[in-house]
Amino acid sequence: MKQLTCKDIGVDCDVKFVGETVEDIMAQAAAHAASEHNLPAIPSNIDQKCRAAIKDIPEPSE
Ligand SMILES: [Zn+2]
Repeated sequence: MKQLTCKDIGVDCDVKFVGETVEDIMAQAAAHAASEHNLPAIPSNIDQKCRAAIKDIPEPSE
């Protein structure tokens, strides 16, 4: 699993994105940025920052 939070890229926001792939997370982040941060398109520098900040997290154990 991979995880990104808005805080990871310097935004004062506690929203967390969790997904299996970077693309999955970027899709969630783009939708969130549009609705919550008034950012309809993620600029390429922010996109790169997001990708660099995505962390691998342990799979949830069921
Ligand atoms: Zn946010």
